Amino acid sequence: MTSSVRAGLLDIVHGHDSHVVVPLQGSGSFSVEAALSTLVPRDGHVLVLDNGAYCKRAARIVSLMGRRCSLLDFGEATVVDPLALAQRLDQDASISHVVLIHCETSAGILNPLQAVADVCEQRGRGLIVDAMSSFGAMEIDARKTRFDALVAASGKCLEGVPGMGFVFIRKAVLHACEGRSQSLVLDLYDQHQYMEKTTQWRFTPPTHVVVALHEAMTQYVEQGGQGARLARYTDNYCTLIAGMTQLGFKPFLDPAIQAPIIVTFHAPEHPAYDFKTFYAAVRARGFLLYPGKLTQLETFRVGCIGAIDAHDMGQAVHAIALSLADMGISPGPGNGPA
Ligand SMILES: *Cc1c(COP(=O)(O)O)cnc(C)c1O
Repeated sequence: MTSSVRAGLLDIVHGHDSHVVVPLQGSGSFSVEAALSTLVPRDGHVLVLDNGAYCKRAARIVSLMGRRCSLLDFGEATVVDPLALAQRLDQDASISHVVLIHCETSAGILNPLQAVADVCEQRGRGLIVDAMSSFGAMEIDARKTRFDALVAASGKCLEGVPGMGFVFIRKAVLHACEGRSQSLVLDLYDQHQYMEKTTQWRFTPPTHVVVALHEAMTQYVEQGGQGARLARYTDNYCTLIAGMTQLGFKPFLDPAIQAPIIVTFHAPEHPAYDFKTFYAAVRARGFLLYPGKLTQLETFRVGCIGAIDAHDMGQAVHAIALSLADMGISPGPGNGPA
């Protein structure tokens, strides 16, 4: 089952020729940490393209592992700029690896993966991509887009249960990764060698998670693969935006840079609004919101992914409308920033 899952994952990115895929026990962040510690040499220098909380988490991991880390800051509402990256790389030859978060789940931004990959390839730097919340829904093609490592997990757009991650590693850089990791359990080179040799996981496997992911990937293919998944999430996203706009809510991001994965809304500027009360009222109707993850503004988030369709999303918007009414807030233009 593990071999079949691994082959299916390589199918999704068209990566059989160029990459291997290494599964790892744990939540998605375990695989991010594993990718960074396996790929980046001890004297490497990582540049994190920063536009949100997951970027800052990646930077923290790099620093904790004792590798040199720099940030290129784009704020929380702007996509990563490939030209600014190119300039920075041209100024600083010591940068060995660039980290990009494909969909920055804190605000919901979709970053320009292809353009960033091109800049890194032209300048001979490694690219490590956290594609946790985009993998399976947004197109990623290893034949067109060069990355040294790309990280995702079982539980987001593949709609498996959470509990394991996986990292695509470019075959051309795999050999050099031997001995780089300062962690035993997070060493993906070792994990890969062991799995190739024995077909087994190096340590106790997350058995039920593997079985669930195998089934989830069978359904993924039956339902039409990446294109169909993106179409369903886009439908969810459009239903959400239409319904919330009618209630007076304003999305935080420019729609041009918004991924149909998770949407950040401004909190209503009404004196009766309180996130905890709002959350509890929506939850009582069977739907869970995400708190906002921005540093300055009061916001909340709604996820568009998972085994839900536009009908479910319509129901969620209805639950939000009823919850606003509970709080004495009437729908309309007042429910966003002036
Ligand atoms: C969900 C997510 C992760 C991983 O989170 P875990 O809670 O460790 O599974 C990492 N990066 C991004 C961009 C994510 O959306």
